[in-house]
Amino acid sequence: MNISKDCVVVFHYRLKNAEGVEIENSHEGDPVAYMHGHRGVIRGLEQAMEGRASGDVFTAEIEPALAYGARKDEAVQRVPIKHLLGKVKPKVGMAVKINTQQGARDVVVIKVGRFNVDVDLNHPLAGQSITFDVEVQEVRAASAEELSHGHAHGVGGHQH
Ligand code: ZN
Repeated sequence: MNISKDCVVVFHYRLKNAEGVEIENSHEGDPVAYMHGHRGVIRGLEQAMEGRASGDVFTAEIEPALAYGARKDEAVQRVPIKHLLGKVKPKVGMAVKINTQQGARDVVVIKVGRFNVDVDLNHPLAGQSITFDVEVQEVRAASAEELSHGHAHGVGGHQH
C-alpha cells in the first residue's frame, strides 16, 4: 500500500542539519511510527512521504518553512541561573533546560551574567534547511483505536 491519509508509517531516518552534520539517527534504536496526515512528523517530511511504499529509500531536503520555521531574533529570554534545570554552570553556547508552562524545554545560553542568563528560545534547527535520509519499513492501515486517537500505537508510536 502507498502512503496516504490515515496510514500508519513505520520508518528509519537520519537527520542532518544545514551543514550536513548528523543530528539524529533512528537506526540506533526502534524505528519511528506516525499516522500520515495528522502532523505526527514535520510538515515537509510528511509531504515527502506521500505516495511512498514499504521498502522505499529516499532523501528529502526540507526548507525551514516546512521544518522548524524561521529564526526569531526576539525569542530571547532572561532567566535566573537558579531556574536552570540540573545544577549547571552556564557557559555561552551551552544547551540547558528551563521549565516553561509547556514543560521542560531545551534552550541555548547566549549571555551569562552574575545571577541571570539570556537564552535563545529558537529551536536549534530553526532557520535551517534540513535533510532526512528515510527508509520506509512498513505502511499499514490504522486500527480503529489509532484513528480515534489520531496517532500510531506500538513500537515507535504512542505506548499507553
Ligand atoms: Zn493513542
